[in-house]
Amino acid sequence: MKCSKEESFSNGELNRYGNIELSPSSGVLNYGQGLFEGLKAYRKGDGRLLLFRPEENGLRLQMGAERMCMPSPSIEQFIYAIKQTVLANKRWVPPPGKGSLYIRPLLIGSGSVLGLAPAPDYTFLIYASPVGNYFKEGLAPLNLVVEENIHRAIPGGAGGVKTITNYSPVLKAQTQAKSKGFSDVLYLDSVKKKNLEEVSSCNVFIVKGNKISTPATQGTILPGITRKSIIDIATNQGYQVEERTIEVEELVDADEVFCTGTAVVVAPVGSITYQGKRFKYNTGVGAVSQKLYSILTGIQTGLIEDKMGWTVEIE
Ligand code: PMP
Repeated sequence: MKCSKEESFSNGELNRYGNIELSPSSGVLNYGQGLFEGLKAYRKGDGRLLLFRPEENGLRLQMGAERMCMPSPSIEQFIYAIKQTVLANKRWVPPPGKGSLYIRPLLIGSGSVLGLAPAPDYTFLIYASPVGNYFKEGLAPLNLVVEENIHRAIPGGAGGVKTITNYSPVLKAQTQAKSKGFSDVLYLDSVKKKNLEEVSSCNVFIVKGNKISTPATQGTILPGITRKSIIDIATNQGYQVEERTIEVEELVDADEVFCTGTAVVVAPVGSITYQGKRFKYNTGVGAVSQKLYSILTGIQTGLIEDKMGWTVEIE
């Protein structure tokens, strides 16, 4: 789908997966004018296909586009394009329980621009790939390390939107962490350097008794769609859920920690290393993490009745 300044997006077309042509002076290549989304299509037991909250991805794309001075497709266009992409790739959606079709919408400044300015033209495209379940055999706890020197976002920056430019600056921290045997990095805020923000591609929650807390978004954390869904599920399950400032010291006596995101769904955290000290959680997988994972994946795959109206069936 294409769009020039002050016009709306044209209806798109389906093409075989392949390279696209881009001007060397395009806005995305020079000034990083690009946004992406990520969502999944699941196959139900009866063979039908389900999307999980696609309008939320469309709304988040629109919010990000506004921040990055880009036009965006309407929600109707967004959902229609997602559905067409899934239908065209129907045979690649794994059988129930074996994974999902990961769908990657991408909005880029494709027009040519030499001096710093918004690009004159934009392209919205979607590609998809089958993916297995993140956890192949039951949940396996992640081992995180708190990063103190590299920050993901600054107040007033673009940490709250899914711009492509948020991801390359944290590759260094993530690569270093992985080379030391950690699963991923837990970032702190860039001002006080002591409040939890999020992990490279997921949000974080801590559990203490009946209370479940997650950092308030405040423009520096990506408002995850899984995060939002888990807040609702946990509230309905009788937990007291709070979005608030969480100091890194609170990790010391948390009962459980878990991460949420489209890829991991709900991932229990087994340990967090901060300033050389390792805080351990559970010997196996925390009961709260396991329960929330089972409910959310049950809804996403059609095994549990979707009372919230979150899933969208594709005809
Ligand atoms: N934070 C970051 C930085 C992410 O890239 C993602 C993945 N989109 C998330 C959190 C989780 O968001 P969601 O639940 O919408 O996948």
